[in-house]
Amino acid sequence: MLGQTPLTNFQTRDVESLLHPYTPIHKLKTIGAVVMERGEGIYVYDTQGRGYIEGMSGLWCAGLGFGDEEMIEAATAQMRALPFYHIFGAKSSEPAVELAEKLKEIAPVPISKVFFTSSGSEANDTQVKLAWYMNNALGRPNKKKIISRIKAYHGVTVMAASLTGLPGNHNGWDLPVDRVLHTDCPHYYRFGTEGESEADFVARTAKSLRDLIEREGPDTIAAMIAEPVMGAGGVIVPPKGYFEAIQAVLDEHDIILIADEVITGFGRTGNWWGSQTLNMKPKTISAAKQLTAAYAPLGAVMVPEDIYQSYVDHSATLGSFAHGFTYGGHPLSCALGVKAIEIYQKRDILGHVRTLMPLFEQRLKKLADHPLVGETRFCGLVGGAELVADKKTKRSFDPKQGVGPEASRLIEQNGAILRAIGDTIAICPPMIITEAELNELFDRFEKGLDQAEAWVSKEGLR
Ligand code: PMP
Repeated sequence: MLGQTPLTNFQTRDVESLLHPYTPIHKLKTIGAVVMERGEGIYVYDTQGRGYIEGMSGLWCAGLGFGDEEMIEAATAQMRALPFYHIFGAKSSEPAVELAEKLKEIAPVPISKVFFTSSGSEANDTQVKLAWYMNNALGRPNKKKIISRIKAYHGVTVMAASLTGLPGNHNGWDLPVDRVLHTDCPHYYRFGTEGESEADFVARTAKSLRDLIEREGPDTIAAMIAEPVMGAGGVIVPPKGYFEAIQAVLDEHDIILIADEVITGFGRTGNWWGSQTLNMKPKTISAAKQLTAAYAPLGAVMVPEDIYQSYVDHSATLGSFAHGFTYGGHPLSCALGVKAIEIYQKRDILGHVRTLMPLFEQRLKKLADHPLVGETRFCGLVGGAELVADKKTKRSFDPKQGVGPEASRLIEQNGAILRAIGDTIAICPPMIITEAELNELFDRFEKGLDQAEAWVSKEGLR
């Protein structure tokens, strides 16, 4: 057990100096952090010399793996030329413009302008402010509420965390703020009722959205935000026809759809955008993470011409468009965004993802036979295996038993980093992974699960 070995000197320095995000900080003094030192391809190595396959691309972001020489060269060249400049006022920089042009080219819906942020949370916060700004511009000051979904993940700033539909992001933080509404989560396995078909489940979900809108008043609702595939909520892939049904309801009430493509953008689902894979027709899009393949922080909001025009008209009245982040459009990040997209294109990363998808699907589906696994879910190269106490009844383990976290710890001991989201083990490997490496990753995944099963049986946790 990690907790039984004394902390190394560096682990002690770590626990004495860092407030770690998303960490049971009350336990950190005993478990210590795994300190990463370097990365190469799909592997990362800790300070103890142990290597791991980074089966989560870090935080669903390092799609090109680690140490890509072309990315390093692009960063170096940009650092030498112009390490920082902003795009406030009437200033600009070449990388920001070049990246905005590239995004317009590859966007799944017509896009007129790109607004840069430093993160996905800031992108989603910006989406909300833009929806408010737009409706003020259009003389609809009451049309301001934003619909999100239970189990959604949209980030951690005050508004993004409010949009997020996970109790941990609300409890203890005085959230959500008002003007945020949460509708049903499209997870058929968990929320479909006895005997209900997928199609009926979709119809019920759409009806529930319609009821919410009618109850609140369509004139009070500006937008709905949705991830094409829910990531941090447990890798939830909506059933067929879901977005078509949802969008019909939104269109009826003049509510715009914002796609949060922070995880699903740039090839992850086998298309450039998750919206294309899931047949979603958003009005605006948030992107981040694989936008720079995580070589530097960057987020983006992409808006169409008609919406943009409303900002122009409004800012003419107000005197300025008073929104922007110091590092939004940072030249280093934008140069890396341009290079990442160029690499995705010239190395045909999308084609590679598609080639790997059958193997990914086959290996995940095989896991569904494992005694611990209730459901496996996947879309492109992102997936999850939900661990259950009883496969027949779908009964979950008591969260206090910590079965998911223990399974991911055992998988890690076998040299693969995956992430426990409650009792769902998520997998989201770098898109450059080879077939042999993907098989190796799943072998380690399976070994860890076998050990977790032995532990569950030994401890009598069922
Ligand atoms: N949206 C989605 C769908 C995400 O997965 C995340 C991060 N996991 C965010 C937004 C927030 O991004 P960031 O952590 O860069 O603020």
